[in-house]
Order: sequence, then C-alpha cells, then structure tokens
Amino acid sequence: MNVYNSLTRRIEELKPIADNTVRLYTCGPTVYNFAHIGNFRAYAFEDILRRVIQFNGMKIRQVMNLTDVDDKTIRGANAAGVALTDYTKTYKDAFFADLKKLNIQPAEVYPAATDHIPEMIALVEKLMEKGVAYQSDDGSVYFKVREFPGYGKLAHIDFDNQRTGLRCADDEYDKENVGDFALWKAWEPSDGPVGWDSPWGRGRPGWHIECSAMSMKYLGETFDLHTGGIDNLFPHHENEIAQAEAATGKEFVRTWMHCAHLRVNGEKMSKSAGNFFTLRDLLEKGYTGREIRYVLINAHYRSGLNFAFSALDDARKALTRIDACVAQATAGEVPDWAQKHLDDFTAAVNDDLNIPSAFAALFALVRDANGKGAAGTLDVFRRMDEVLGVVFFGNERKNEEIPADVQALLDARAEARKAKNWAESDRLRDEIAAAGWAVKDSKEGQTCTRR
Ligand code: AMP
Ligand code: ZN
Repeated sequence: MNVYNSLTRRIEELKPIADNTVRLYTCGPTVYNFAHIGNFRAYAFEDILRRVIQFNGMKIRQVMNLTDVDDKTIRGANAAGVALTDYTKTYKDAFFADLKKLNIQPAEVYPAATDHIPEMIALVEKLMEKGVAYQSDDGSVYFKVREFPGYGKLAHIDFDNQRTGLRCADDEYDKENVGDFALWKAWEPSDGPVGWDSPWGRGRPGWHIECSAMSMKYLGETFDLHTGGIDNLFPHHENEIAQAEAATGKEFVRTWMHCAHLRVNGEKMSKSAGNFFTLRDLLEKGYTGREIRYVLINAHYRSGLNFAFSALDDARKALTRIDACVAQATAGEVPDWAQKHLDDFTAAVNDDLNIPSAFAALFALVRDANGKGAAGTLDVFRRMDEVLGVVFFGNERKNEEIPADVQALLDARAEARKAKNWAESDRLRDEIAAAGWAVKDSKEGQTCTRR
C-alpha cells in the first residue's frame, strides 16, 4: 500500500512500525457547532484510509480527538450562558450521529481535550525544562520556535526569510506570521468560568498542545501516521511536531497525509465564509447519507472537490445501478473477468487511495456482470465494498433509511388513501418511484424499499 507523505513529499510504502498495526492520529472536530460536509470530506478520507489499511490485512488503531475547549467553544458556551461541557455535548452527540449516517467506521479512541489537561500540563512542563518554552509577561506560555532546529520541516518553511521574533497568541495564523506560539493561555475575563490551575497560574491549553499530548498518550512517542485537512498542515501539525520532538528527542510521526478542501464555487467550504452545508442540511433536502458519502469519497483526496447538488443526483443514479446489479449477484466461483476487475480495484486503492479509479473498476464489473451474468460476483462486490462502504447487500437494502422527501410523499399518499383518492395515490406512487423507491400496500399500511 503506497501513500503520499506530506513530510517527504514522496509516495512511499506504508508499513507499520510494530504489531502489523498502523497507529493513526486524525485531528477531529471542534465541537462548537454542527460539522459541515467539508469537515466530513476529511473524515471520509480518513475512513477510506483506515479501510484500505484493513483491506491489506493490517490492523488499525485510530485516535480522533474532540476539541472541546478553545476560543470558539468558550465563546459559544458563555454567549449561551451554559457550562462548557453542556454546550459541547450537543455537538459531540451530533457528530457521532453524523458519522453513522455516512457509514464512517468509528475510531478506536475519541479523547476529549478537557479530559486530558494534566497530560498537557506535563508536556508543557517538560518543554519548560528543556528550555524551549517560556512564560511571557501576559502570563501565557509560549514555544520558542528558534530553539527547535527542525521547525518548518513539514511546511517547508524558509526560515531565513521569516521574522521569527514574533509571538502569536491565536491558534491559527499563516506562514507569513511564523512566531512563538501559545502552549498555555493565561485566563482572561472573557473565559468566564472556564479555566484550570497550572504551575503558570489559571488558564487553558493551546490547541496544538492538545494533539501532541493525546496522540503520544494513546499511540506512543513515535507512531505511524497522522492526518487532517490541508489547512491543518500549518501551523497546527508543524507545531505538533515541534512540541513532541522537542520534548522526547524522538521522531514523532513517520507519515503525514492531508486531504484537499471541499469547495463551493471555488472557495473553501468553511463556517467563517458562511458557504457551508451541514450533513443535516442535505438530509433535510432528501439526500441520503449513502449518496453524500459517495460524493465525498469519489474524488482523489489530494484533489479539490467542488460541491454541487448535481453530483448528489448523479450519485443516486450510480448507486441505483450498482444495487440493481448486486441484487442479481450470487456467491460461488469468481469468474476470471471479475477477478481482473478486483485486481484493478486493489491496485487503485493501493496507489495512494485512488478511489475514482477504484470506482471505475467497480463499474467495469457492473457492466460485465450485466452483460455476462452476475454469477460468482457477489464476493467481489463485498470485497470492494469493504473499502467503499456504499453498496447495499440484501437486508441492508430493506433497512435503508427513507429520505425525508420520500417520507413526505408517503405521508401524503397515506392521507390520499384514507380519503379514497386513488388517482392521487397512484400519482404519488409514481413520484416515489421516480425518486428511486417502491411502495407496497398491505393491511398494515405502506412499506417502502429502494427500487
Ligand atoms: P475543524 O473543526 O475546523 O478543526 O476541522 C476539522 C477537520 O476538517 C480538519 O481536519 C480540517 O482540516 C477539515 N476541514 C475543514 N474544512 C474543510 C474543507 N472545506 N474541506 C476538507 N476538509 C476540511
Ligand atoms: Zn490536531
């Protein structure tokens, strides 16, 4: 299995350091709001990554943090006048519900930042002892980037042209403003009741220290793989490396992978730009989690993906076509031509997660199975779906959740039938069929399944 390593800027084989287990840290959500589908592009990419690792017979240990204390969560909680933990709980719960809808496999550990303050304080203390951190006049503790020779190796920063005497209290800034960054932020009145006691007084951790402390706690001081969206590369991941390696003197992470952004009309989908859709927005419009997943994974993770509703409509058609073929598929000896498509599929996913090419192999299988007969292809579909997670087999089809727009048509049809308006009932049946669903009537009422 080969992947592109952002650190070396080369395609490399992914081989676990120990126990045939890939130890993976994935930067998770800041739980101050519902995640948007740009965020879910990153989580879907990471899901594909963990599935391909397992597809290749390796084991996985994935840690995804929940950032439940930072400027945004504190601002939200204080504005709403509720405790920080109550405020973030709503969005944590929503996040896990959304992951399920998108058929994203759960990580092995979801550590929350607020449960790991002692670990973060211990790491900052270590950096103080090593002389790479200092407390400034404002009471906050900063990492001295000049004292860590490897600073800039991930983002490939040219230090000589940087004004690195600066300090930056914000968690996010751009490469032009490289400076000492905050490890521990002194309490301010706007923090309200949020704060923890530390050797440097009351305050709270910076965002970057959170990921270094929690990743090393659950995965060891040196581990295999660390990922996030491309916006995480600098300064977040650069700072994670600096904190961890300055503290341990060891290599922090072997391989770094970053996915490109989901865009809308050419711009990054983000809450600050206001051009975002949450998963809920799309579900309310009648799209299913499966269709949204299809769109999110069906572009190479290192290429930009422009969001458009037409892509969701295309996904519906493509999935209907796959389902129809899989419904004919049987187990048994795999024909040579089907095996060839599986080999192409395997080569594609192992070539830096080339999912568009993997889908091409799946559709080649569908085309041939439709022409030559689908006997013996079921296991090939199943094997491919270990990675893709979008195909329905037998029972799953029956249990598929009915989208909101189809449900509305079903409700209207139930009313029409109660009123014995058979013409309207038939018209609604056709409309439901056009949306890809079949409705049957019995004494118990209507049952509706994917066509
Ligand atoms: P945040 O909650 O902003 O910390 O982001 C959580 C994850 O989503 C990070 O890995 C980000 O890099 C990623 N992310 C944010 N916006 C986008 C986007 N428009 N496209 C892809 N990934 C994104
Ligand atoms: Zn992180």
